[in-house]
Amino acid sequence: MWYMNEERELMLNVAKDFVEQEVKPVAMEVDRTSEFPTKLFKRAGELGFLGITVAEEFGGLGKDHTTQSLILEEIAKSLPVLTVAMGAHTLLAGGLLNMLGTPEQKKKYLAPAATGEIILACGSTEPAGGANHIEHTTKAVLEGDQWVINGGKVLVSNIGVADVYVILAVTAEKMDPVTREGMSAFIVPKGTPGLEIGKHEHKLGWHGSATGSISFKNMKLPKENLLGPAGGCMRALFVSATDEFLSCGPVGLGMAEAAYEMAYKYSHERMQRGQSMYDRLQVTRHKLVKMYGEIESLRALVYYTADLRDRGQMPLKLGRMLKIKGAEVSEYVAREAIQLFGGVGTIVDTGVERFWRDAKVLAIGGASVEALMEDISVMMKLNMSKY
Ligand SMILES: Cc1cc2nc3c(=O)[nH]c(=O)nc-3n(C[C@H](O)[C@H](O)[C@H](O)COP(=O)(O)OP(=O)(O)OC[C@H]3O[C@@H](n4cnc5c(N)ncnc54)[C@H](O)[C@@H]3O)c2cc1C
Repeated sequence: MWYMNEERELMLNVAKDFVEQEVKPVAMEVDRTSEFPTKLFKRAGELGFLGITVAEEFGGLGKDHTTQSLILEEIAKSLPVLTVAMGAHTLLAGGLLNMLGTPEQKKKYLAPAATGEIILACGSTEPAGGANHIEHTTKAVLEGDQWVINGGKVLVSNIGVADVYVILAVTAEKMDPVTREGMSAFIVPKGTPGLEIGKHEHKLGWHGSATGSISFKNMKLPKENLLGPAGGCMRALFVSATDEFLSCGPVGLGMAEAAYEMAYKYSHERMQRGQSMYDRLQVTRHKLVKMYGEIESLRALVYYTADLRDRGQMPLKLGRMLKIKGAEVSEYVAREAIQLFGGVGTIVDTGVERFWRDAKVLAIGGASVEALMEDISVMMKLNMSKY
């Protein structure tokens, strides 16, 4: 592949060993029990996978987005939900710490997060809607040298297991609908009085991502827990969210590849009237060809976009496109794979239908594909981003 080099090959081999020896043996169990895979998460931290693009001075590996994509793709082939927990930790919460944090905040929170010593969560979504920040009501008021926060967040990943929450709250009278000024980010350590953690929701997919609500009741934070300028976190969120959307491309790719591999193998093993399903039925072969075509198109877009990012571009449109295509291709391929398995494809223990469930959630979790298309169309109209 044009994007491979010796260093990336080495990192990919580490990821392959990790997946083969530690992730694969427990992947089905994580899906079945919905328990957060703490041991695997910590191990990913030891291997450097929680800080691939974080600077070395803050505990990261200082590597590029292409390397990050290769590792996410590999892990998603076996346990997509681990990449989801990693994304909420490294790209959403970690991204905001990286962009907005003072050197002291980065040393205190980003560095131990990059090595997996602490787990992060990011709370942005409210009942008013994930993309509807204008109507968010969580409010932070400065009283003396403390911020007092009231409100709550829903559908937050890594709750309960997180040591630190990065949350958004309105600090202005009202958020400006045009400039988006008025929203601030805060660092909330677990155990802060007034921070209440809800139950883990039982979801269609992403079993084990520990998703649920958190609320703040007169929660007091010291002044220094404000992350970035008061009222000015939305620009950083735009960038950290772009990196998170970009990461959904390789995650979708890994899931699609896994489902395709299973279906390809099964179509050769399944005998009907003395022939394999693959040899007997043109419809089977053509389904697999279409699945292969979608996978390779997605792969091209994933590594083209990661390369742009590595060359210093901020692919606002293509980053969002990757989340859309990652979700669409993985959902399509997994759905067709279940179809090719026939009845056994619907049985959880076969292990193929979980990729469809996880792909479906990928189309919503973090941002719905429709909201992202809307974003892209606005950027097109404003001629905002080359890529
Ligand atoms: C498993 C899971 C994990 C999550 N983890 C986190 C997390 O860690 N942190 C966090 O802050 N949030 C998280 N979320 C929340 C997620 O970002 C939101 O669910 C998502 O942004 C959609 O928002 P909503 O659920 O409020 O749906 P709504 O905003 O009510 O949207 C419903 C539907 O309306 C349409 N729609 C909404 N807005 C637009 C728009 N602007 N343009 C076009 N169509 C639109 C779409 O079809 C959308 O699916 C998670 C969600 C899930 C499911």
